[in-house]
Amino acid sequence: MIVPTSAHVHSMASLAVGGGEAVDYYSDKLNAADVGSCFQVVKTKSKGKIIVATSDISKGVLIHRESPLVAMQSLDNKFDVVVCHYCKCNIGTLEQQIDLLQRKINRLDYLKYEQSWTLLGEEDIKRPPSHVVCSCGEIYCSSECQGNDNARNGHAILCTGPIDGESSREHPIIQFKLHAMETNEIFILAAQVVTSIIMRYKKDPKRSKEAFKRFVQNKWWDVVWPSNTAGDESEVLEEKNMLANTLYELSMESFHLLRQAILSNCSPVQISDKEFDELFNVDYYGSIIGMFEQNNLGIRRKSLVALGIEAKMADVNAPVPKGQGVAAGQSVESGLLGKLL
Ligand SMILES: [Zn+2]
Ligand SMILES: [Zn+2]
Repeated sequence: MIVPTSAHVHSMASLAVGGGEAVDYYSDKLNAADVGSCFQVVKTKSKGKIIVATSDISKGVLIHRESPLVAMQSLDNKFDVVVCHYCKCNIGTLEQQIDLLQRKINRLDYLKYEQSWTLLGEEDIKRPPSHVVCSCGEIYCSSECQGNDNARNGHAILCTGPIDGESSREHPIIQFKLHAMETNEIFILAAQVVTSIIMRYKKDPKRSKEAFKRFVQNKWWDVVWPSNTAGDESEVLEEKNMLANTLYELSMESFHLLRQAILSNCSPVQISDKEFDELFNVDYYGSIIGMFEQNNLGIRRKSLVALGIEAKMADVNAPVPKGQGVAAGQSVESGLLGKLL
């Protein structure tokens, strides 16, 4: 049995940027750190200025820490691992996680285990078990995370919770999400950038896009084709144009559904047609996705199962005396893990 042992997250952190201003900012930060001499700023054709390592850096050396500007768990992975919709920490107990993987329960059943919710792993162990479930089904580890997701990412703008009734499938928000699920989940992350810009716009219209300006802003359909493709030149060009056209069409469909979804929403955050059209258009939407194409980081975070297996192995290899150094997951239900190992 293959056990998914991690939460898969698309994210965009500023360290992966190609914009000159940001590279200068981060190279200063890295220079200030102990590892500063291991880096240099290099100018490249495709990605602008980038920071590269000039010597080997030992595994485990922390060079920089920051929160992603936007992040989402891969849709497929949501069936296997439950993490907080905002901070992506693990939620639930190991037993629930294993039941979920064995399809004894589904994600919605998982929500019923209110009594036994705990948070394990890394920093999460220190947090109180106080999960919150949004009416749309998204799960947060705390009301603080739910509040942050609404205030920073504008979750409420595209939340499907308030939508009900027989015609819910026709609702623009559902239509937008279905289109993304059927074509490319990256549109969901792009929508998160759009709603977070709206939240920033509400606070300070002049600085609404500032956080994203430092990224390379090429359009998705212009940058997706690998620059080193070999083959007959005219055939390559034809294929490249076909792909570019397909991506443009898809982006246009997605953007129009998103526009309709945002303008028809009844969340507390309202934006007029005029304001929306001044902030966004298909090309800007394409630049957001192009930004992911060139700056996206895939993160794999260990799930409770991975942490549990590690703890079990640690138990087997070096038994920890009772009452000493017992960490998250070390008292894991061996019987449960036994089914998977
Ligand atoms: Zn959280
Ligand atoms: Zn929601």
